[in-house]
Amino acid sequence: MKRLISLLLAVIIALSVSISCFAAEKCSCDIEPVVFVHGFGTHPLYLNYGEKDQRQVFPPDTKAIVESMPDILSLLFNLTVTKNYDRAADDLNSIADKMLGYLACDENGNSKYNVGIEHHDLPTEDHHKGTDYSFTVFNGEQADKDQYLFYYDFRIDPVDAAKQLKEYVNHIKKLTGHNKVKIACHSEGNTVVSSYLYLYGCKDVSRVIFLSPAYKGLSLIGNMLIGNVTLNDKKNPLFLYFEQMLGINPRNYFEELIINSVRDYGLYPNLFNALDEFFDAEFDYVFYTKLTEIFCTMPCIWAFCPDEYYKSAKAHVFGNDSKYKTFIDKIDYYHYNVQCNLEKTLNKCLKNGMTLAICCGYNISSIPIVDGAETQSDMLIDTEYMSIGARCADIGTTLKATIKNKYFSPDLLVDASTCLYPEYTWFIKNQMHSQFTKGYEKFVTELLLCKSQPTLSNMKQYQQFMVNDKNENLIPVK
Ligand SMILES: [Zn+2]
Repeated sequence: MKRLISLLLAVIIALSVSISCFAAEKCSCDIEPVVFVHGFGTHPLYLNYGEKDQRQVFPPDTKAIVESMPDILSLLFNLTVTKNYDRAADDLNSIADKMLGYLACDENGNSKYNVGIEHHDLPTEDHHKGTDYSFTVFNGEQADKDQYLFYYDFRIDPVDAAKQLKEYVNHIKKLTGHNKVKIACHSEGNTVVSSYLYLYGCKDVSRVIFLSPAYKGLSLIGNMLIGNVTLNDKKNPLFLYFEQMLGINPRNYFEELIINSVRDYGLYPNLFNALDEFFDAEFDYVFYTKLTEIFCTMPCIWAFCPDEYYKSAKAHVFGNDSKYKTFIDKIDYYHYNVQCNLEKTLNKCLKNGMTLAICCGYNISSIPIVDGAETQSDMLIDTEYMSIGARCADIGTTLKATIKNKYFSPDLLVDASTCLYPEYTWFIKNQMHSQFTKGYEKFVTELLLCKSQPTLSNMKQYQQFMVNDKNENLIPVK
């Protein structure tokens, strides 16, 4: 009996020692840990991760690109030479299948295949190692010890990702001994963080920096989901768009090849005429068969649908098919609770002591394949949605300057007075969606470090409307 008691005691002591080892001392330093929540497609997805036949399925690996080559050539041939658009549509479906087929979700919005992100152990290093506090985490890699990168499968429902984020935040709090964390989120990450704030409030979060936020959706996605896709009169903008996206800095041989052949061989007038006819004839077939199968059952895509498109989009894509009931319940939850209540959620958090800042790009058109692409964006997300309410001039025009106010951009493109938080919202001219220059990272660092709620007046070294100069420093817009 004595033995048993001493054994029990030993176990209890051992347990309590290991518990006290794990719980970090409370930290009194004034640098709170920063959790970064990335956007769509930032981390690769794998098929059969950790098994012998593991394969990267997003971004598509070389194997998928090589396998798709015959279809790509056939597509170009059918588009420009034979103008057989039915065949071209089949080619496109086949390319989509080979390049992206493994991303598909089932009718309930769960991954159809054994696909997911790489396994990441929870961080074990506390944040006091780095004394140089700077925001440098992009391209999906953790670049600095002061920041913790939250990993999630970008296809999933932002509400489910928010539940994972909650566990992650709890871990970081325990690890660092801080009661609260700061969060910086980019693009889709904003749908996750707004879900988090909706579900859990700001008890564990002292500040959120919203970067190029997708929390109110993108008109591009809304238009695609209701079938409003056209190239009419958009051939030149489309070419410029692709050149801007790829040509400035081709990331690989494949992109360089596309942009050079389009530019050097004058292919684009023919190609774009053909694409225009092709879209008119076949868009519904391609989009609502293969692409619906791959993308429209990804919950995240529906989080990108703005409210004004949402009802029509659901009707257009799913009709009355009862097979999608569970899926629609899931996306409705995000839409009606998180997206539609964003303003209320943020106001409540501010009232409870959280601080925030919003940063968005402007003066770039969205991908010009839908009517309405003349709205200002960061080439993907509408500036109006990102800023929660700024009034923006269409691309190529300016706002009437008759009723100017202090939130009016000097170039007359944006009136920020109509934003939810005009004092806490900043605009970077010509900044592309995922472009993070040296100057921008410095700015975001200052937003994170600012002792109180960052405002236009206490961030004096910065202006509400800025642009990158040649050396990637942010300077005022003139
Ligand atoms: Zn600390």
